[in-house]
Amino acid sequence: MARLPFPRSQVYAFFGPRNYPPDPDHKGIDFGYGMSVGLAVPCAAAGVVIGSGHGSQINFWKEVDHGGGWTTRYHMLGSSNGPGVGDTVAEGQTIGFVGPQSGTSSGVHLHFEVHNKNLPSKPIYGTAVDPLTNINNFGNGSVPNPTEEEKLTRGFAVYANTATNQWAVGGPGTWQVLSGAETGLYSTIYGERVALNDADYQGVARLCRSGKISDVRVYANVTTNVWALGGPGVWFIIPAGQGTLFENLFGEKTVLTDAQFQQLRAALV
Ligand SMILES: [Zn+2]
Repeated sequence: MARLPFPRSQVYAFFGPRNYPPDPDHKGIDFGYGMSVGLAVPCAAAGVVIGSGHGSQINFWKEVDHGGGWTTRYHMLGSSNGPGVGDTVAEGQTIGFVGPQSGTSSGVHLHFEVHNKNLPSKPIYGTAVDPLTNINNFGNGSVPNPTEEEKLTRGFAVYANTATNQWAVGGPGTWQVLSGAETGLYSTIYGERVALNDADYQGVARLCRSGKISDVRVYANVTTNVWALGGPGVWFIIPAGQGTLFENLFGEKTVLTDAQFQQLRAALV
């Protein structure tokens, strides 16, 4: 069981990019309405305090471990008063007290984060997930819900043509060639680039433009250790060393015997 520290109606800044105060990487939500200095902050769920400290931008903070990789963080507290590192806390128990406005913040607020440390690190948000869509996942071992940004990047990747040094971002129904100035930004958003020879680069471009890239899966030949990306009309041999990259994009590989691998290839193309 878990709950937000305060009702959703008291949130005034959400997870993700924020215009004011400017923050391209807001890893939590801010409860701003109805806050006052000294207000007791209820803990989101039962757990153990695993961190406590102070930072110039975030004032006093605490972190609570709820098991299953789930932790919550409470920033903008006014002091270290309340439970400390090693103390167990119950759901709803006071974890700390709201502090005065500090850093670049626009007012008195509680900054609240939810992390799942079983997640692979994400390019922008680290292990933080949107508290509003994940608060009910505590304790049941479920996988965190994807954010809008993650849905946006699923199936998308940056591809680099090693022959021409042209780079593009590709995904279902999308193939956009990048200018030199854009390559760094897009690599940050979508992760490591996929380096391809000219023929494979053109093949992926066709796959993306047709939209068929959303129907493809990763297959591994357990006999030869050759991996392929397969789907309707598609059979692309994944370059050695790029298997994990493709699994991150298209989901975990399906392992096949050599005979199954050849049969699948014949059925698809
Ligand atoms: Zn915040």
